[in-house]
Amino acid sequence: MNIHEYQAKAVLKTFGVPVSRGVAIFKPEEAAAAAKELGGPLWVVKSQIHAGGRGKGKFKEPAAGDKGGVRLAKSVEEVETYAAQMLGNTLVTVQTGPAGKVVHRLYIEEGSDIEKELYLSMLVDRSTSRIAFVVSTEGGMDIEAVAHDTPEKIVSFSIDPATGIMPHHGRTLARALGLKGDLAKQAGELATQLYTAFVAKDMTMLEINPLIVTKDGKLRCLDAKIAFEGNSLYRHPDVVALRDLTEEDEKEIEASKYDLSYVALDGTIGCMVNGAGLAMATMDIIKLYGEEPANFLDVGGGASKEKVTAAFKIITADPNVKGILINIFGGIMKCDVLAEGVIAAVKEVGLNVPLVVRLEGTNVEKGKAIINASGLNVISADDLDDAAQKIVSAVRGK
Ligand code: GDP
Ligand code: MG
Repeated sequence: MNIHEYQAKAVLKTFGVPVSRGVAIFKPEEAAAAAKELGGPLWVVKSQIHAGGRGKGKFKEPAAGDKGGVRLAKSVEEVETYAAQMLGNTLVTVQTGPAGKVVHRLYIEEGSDIEKELYLSMLVDRSTSRIAFVVSTEGGMDIEAVAHDTPEKIVSFSIDPATGIMPHHGRTLARALGLKGDLAKQAGELATQLYTAFVAKDMTMLEINPLIVTKDGKLRCLDAKIAFEGNSLYRHPDVVALRDLTEEDEKEIEASKYDLSYVALDGTIGCMVNGAGLAMATMDIIKLYGEEPANFLDVGGGASKEKVTAAFKIITADPNVKGILINIFGGIMKCDVLAEGVIAAVKEVGLNVPLVVRLEGTNVEKGKAIINASGLNVISADDLDDAAQKIVSAVRGK
């Protein structure tokens, strides 16, 4: 689960992490009061969307145009003007895709005087099963280019969970960031604060870009991006409360109500599969035969008829879907339950695209009989390969 920058900074602040003062606003009318509360003389007006690259982004409406989603303001009036231009406008960045994202919230911050921009991120490194720091002296908006052109400028080290964060990690961080004296001491404190926050809140990713050195010699987090582990949200109601549904795909929200593992994708073939491994294999084989999956969907082991119906409706509601492939290997999941769920969904919402069904396993004969008796226009397939070829030729109109 992702949250906005201003929420991430509020979370980090509770662990003592240095961040700028700021006020989140939802309406242009709130801009002046927020700016006055902060006092100036410099403010930053920051679009809050769940995507990075805002500074270099472009708005669709001409008023704010290509000035970017993060702007420095030198007066209360400028803060008001930028707020009015940004709110309700669509911001396109390298991370949003061409459709962009509508800005519904802004964060007005006190402006910082930047001496140097550094990069710091943390993630769970699966190869070492440890939390790793990834840092660079070359922070700021061009970090992707740094990673690509001069990867030696990116330093990483990991923390042994048995010891947790130690003073020597702080020194490693300071050295990697080229910080000396009091700044090195601040880096040590920051490492401890960030590591503590990361573990306590079950984060999977934390990115501070830029981490700055201010003109008066202080480390400060000027941007913050946090992703939380979905499987541990149950123990963090405070984090769940930060969820912004307007940032999430409607189909994914609907799927989460039914506890379906669903991820929306850009392709044309809707997939309904049981088991994550089989779902991945189904997506791979669709690609192998030259088409793209419209989604990842694992209906799970003991899916009920209601769950299958909901899943089928989510797939058919996607206008990009030109064909559906149902690939079920019945183990705990029973093929007849699947068949009943699909038929119930088709009765409600109809079926306007080709449907290929490959059933195998528990109650397969019952399942096939239910589908045959339904009068549904189904193309049946014998195995995964056959199923993929049939749905690909069906969406291509052959
Ligand atoms: P991103 O483009 O989505 O990563 O948004 P950031 O929050 O990182 O802001 C983009 C850039 O705006 C930063 O890299 C800074 O160069 C600049 N910026 C952000 N806040 C301030 C500030 O308080 N003062 C100054 N001078 N620049 C800032
Ligand atoms: Mg940034």
